Amino acid sequence: MEQLTEEQIQKLNELSKLPQEQQQAELQKLLSTMSPGQIEFLKSQQKQQCLFCSIVEFQTPQYRVYEDNYFIGILDINPASKGHTIIIPKKHHKFINEIEEDFSIPIKKITNKIYEELQADVSIIINNGDKAGQKLPHASISIIPRYENDNINIEWQSNKASEEELKELSQKLMISKEIPKVEEKIEEINDYEEDERIP
Ligand SMILES: [Zn+2]
Repeated sequence: MEQLTEEQIQKLNELSKLPQEQQQAELQKLLSTMSPGQIEFLKSQQKQQCLFCSIVEFQTPQYRVYEDNYFIGILDINPASKGHTIIIPKKHHKFINEIEEDFSIPIKKITNKIYEELQADVSIIINNGDKAGQKLPHASISIIPRYENDNINIEWQSNKASEEELKELSQKLMISKEIPKVEEKIEEINDYEEDERIP
């Protein structure tokens, strides 16, 4: 691994003071000036400073309740309620949308376990990005068990949207339907035929 130059360190410090959107672009520029060895060095530095990375690597005491190849689940030591569990991706990603693996699997398993053992419902919270109140630079998902009269408030005031706004937004945010692969189509046809045979 290769150390960073004084100039690169200074640029990194300046970068951290910029607004988030600018940070990403500037970081890309800075990274393009670095050698692979320097990028590796930078990553290892970031990892050492990240609380969740240190938890993943057992360098910080924890109550681990779940683990698979991509995620761990730990008990929050300052819980919103009894059994509050945090799902953490093993790889260092700041944003939840950067995670390639399917995080619905740990969510389902932990939610089921909490229901079985604590008879609690859950609120599932992801704060993605600074404006959403994300506090640490490593993505996470909070599973908060809910009990009757638990005094947890996850509410917002609803506003009225105009027809015009909704129409415009629905076009802007539209994600086109993925075309199913050939095998899935064949399955669909088979299912349909089986249904047809039922008198
Ligand atoms: Zn991390």
